[in-house]
Amino acid sequence: MKRVYEAAAYGADPVRDCFWTTTAPVPSCDAVSGEITVDVAIVGAGFTGISAAYHLASAGLKVALLDANYPTFGATGRNGGFCCLGGGKITNKQLDARFGQDERRLYRATEVAAVENAKSLIHTLGIDVDAHSTGETQLAHNPQRAASFVTDQIHVMDDYGVNATLHSTEDLAELGMKGAFHGGLTIPIGFALNPRKFALGLLSAAMDKGAMVFAHSPVSRIDPMPSGYHLCTDHGRVVAKRFIIATNGYSSDDMPDWMRARYMPVQSSVIVTDPISQERQHEQGWFSDQMAYDTRFLLHYFRKLPDNRFLFGMRGGLKYNRRSERAIQKLIRHDFDAMFPSWRDVPTAHYWSGLVALNRTLAPYVGPIDGYEGGFAGFGYHGNGVAMASYVGGILADLAQGKTTTYPYPAAFRDAPKRFPLGRKRRWLLAPIYRLMTAYEA
Ligand SMILES: Cc1cc2nc3c(=O)[nH]c(=O)nc-3n(C[C@H](O)[C@H](O)[C@H](O)COP(=O)(O)OP(=O)(O)OC[C@H]3O[C@@H](n4cnc5c(N)ncnc54)[C@H](O)[C@@H]3O)c2cc1C
Repeated sequence: MKRVYEAAAYGADPVRDCFWTTTAPVPSCDAVSGEITVDVAIVGAGFTGISAAYHLASAGLKVALLDANYPTFGATGRNGGFCCLGGGKITNKQLDARFGQDERRLYRATEVAAVENAKSLIHTLGIDVDAHSTGETQLAHNPQRAASFVTDQIHVMDDYGVNATLHSTEDLAELGMKGAFHGGLTIPIGFALNPRKFALGLLSAAMDKGAMVFAHSPVSRIDPMPSGYHLCTDHGRVVAKRFIIATNGYSSDDMPDWMRARYMPVQSSVIVTDPISQERQHEQGWFSDQMAYDTRFLLHYFRKLPDNRFLFGMRGGLKYNRRSERAIQKLIRHDFDAMFPSWRDVPTAHYWSGLVALNRTLAPYVGPIDGYEGGFAGFGYHGNGVAMASYVGGILADLAQGKTTTYPYPAAFRDAPKRFPLGRKRRWLLAPIYRLMTAYEA
């Protein structure tokens, strides 16, 4: 497989100390062996692939869901659990210019629909996801950003039709979100969850509907043959007329060739503390259940978990090896200590990292794979895929059945991303961007 980061970034090491692994066991699944014929084969068992499998199996199709490692191995089983707006970084100005105002409105409505879709799946399937938080709170890291919240509040109403609440620093302290913040804005859409429990609940529902799930089955080739596509793994193959690529940040540039340089994998890192007593929470002034993030370009995202641990995430490194991981782990702990100084002595036994994907369109891509009739892909959630990837799985399931989807499906999602320059060295484009944007933020 032709990948962008060092091989270890795709192995077990980055996820060894992930907190979520202690909260829900992944069912053991066999590897593909021999030949299996299905209607639709899905490559990648994260939110995108699991959701597509659930919808396809519910529609009565024969489905095989394959993961190179095991279901939820990728970003799905190791994210921050913010089930929120987002999925892209495209601005309203760019949407207006490229697709027109109606499409801009549809795009923003789709972000809301994705959160509602996650809520509805959790409710309908009765998945216990340890939910908390009423929407999400943005915290200003400087006075300028706090001042801009007034216009942001108007944009939130225009884009999402809801009233966002402004908070002064005093309000934040009263709400249990005290810190070196200059103000806050709460958008009342979204909630926090245990991502592994959500994904495994959906996986179990897909299996109940008859989806066949395979672990340790990396698809190394997709060959078009008269009998259908042959998706080749180490010990067998799946034959299917249609297939879905759901590999997002864990994609390979040759799986299939069409994917080459169309996505930018980016590392993100998380720490989780030991449980923090109520007394120590009040000492720091953070006792809210609200999920929050700051306004930096390379933002910090954080929330108190239902068992009083604290989860804190930020960008990851530009390469992957033991040394770079140690450096990022040190940096994330440094930023955590700076923002929550009363908790400097609280241990963070859990540190992990994973890959998200960006697209040049700044929007997710959901649609056909050119040159592969019956082949579809969904990727590029820009670090916000809990709601969006599980939503995209629904669209992909419709496309793979040759149906016109009933989900809101904006034109920006159908715009196949152009390739990034520098091919497999493209991650080095991130270094100057990180430097430039953080220089402006001081
Ligand atoms: C540290 C971190 C924190 C995050 N926090 C949040 C958050 O709080 N809120 C939010 O909305 N989003 C968050 N995200 C992003 C979110 O997790 C992802 O957007 C989402 O999980 C993507 O789901 P996916 O199914 O498309 O891909 P993934 O979950 O990454 O799954 C891809 C799967 O494909 C498999 N695969 C790859 N190649 C092959 C192959 N050739 N054959 C078979 N299988 C293959 C991999 O093993 C992997 O399991 C975070 C991500 C990270 C890494």
